[in-house]
Amino acid sequence: MTEHHLLDIQRLDTEAEQLRHRHANLEQRARLEAARVELGRVDAESAAIDVARLEVAARQKRFEDEAQIFSTKADEDEKRLYSGEVGMKDLQPLQAEIAGLRERQADHEDKALEAMEEAEVLAARRAETDERSAAIAEAITVAEAELADAEAEITAQLADVAARREVAAEAVDPGDLAEYERLRPGMGSATVVRFDGSNCVGCPSTMPAVELDRMKHADSGSVLSCRECGRIVVT
Ligand SMILES: [Zn+2]
Repeated sequence: MTEHHLLDIQRLDTEAEQLRHRHANLEQRARLEAARVELGRVDAESAAIDVARLEVAARQKRFEDEAQIFSTKADEDEKRLYSGEVGMKDLQPLQAEIAGLRERQADHEDKALEAMEEAEVLAARRAETDERSAAIAEAITVAEAELADAEAEITAQLADVAARREVAAEAVDPGDLAEYERLRPGMGSATVVRFDGSNCVGCPSTMPAVELDRMKHADSGSVLSCRECGRIVVT
């Protein structure tokens, strides 16, 4: 009953192809890849926020330092103003200079405050990306485990199919097996077909009478080649 073993081998090869296709297209892998892309996007967002935070912190420091310089200078001028050492004609210009310094001090303090507010907004956004990043990392860990499980399951099924094919192959004539393996890439899961008593089931059209006669008169269990379609026909 070698014909059945050849059909068995064909069926097992088809099963293995389907398993490999499933392995290559596991939705768990797609989910994992999507999560990794999302993590990369969030990480890039965090990095951009970090750059912005450095810039804002430097700006805040610069405005604070400059406000301090104006404040120190204004303090010194006020000390001179109230020391009684300044002549009458110098009082007015000194007061104007102090007013100008205080104005610039206040302006710089305002700008430092604006930077500080910006820094707070950025810190909140950064905390949010950290939170998202942690949640995605957790989802990735879960997806990795699920993918590994799904892959292991299919790998085990493939090993089982391979073992059964090996057993079936031992019962098949090596020449028939070699012919099947040569034709399989082009004919796929219908490389070996049954002779249904009146036709090669692989053929689209009715078999010529001579060919039909040849099939009909072959011994049961024969492995033939259909002259119409080139398939292996088992009777
Ligand atoms: Zn045929």
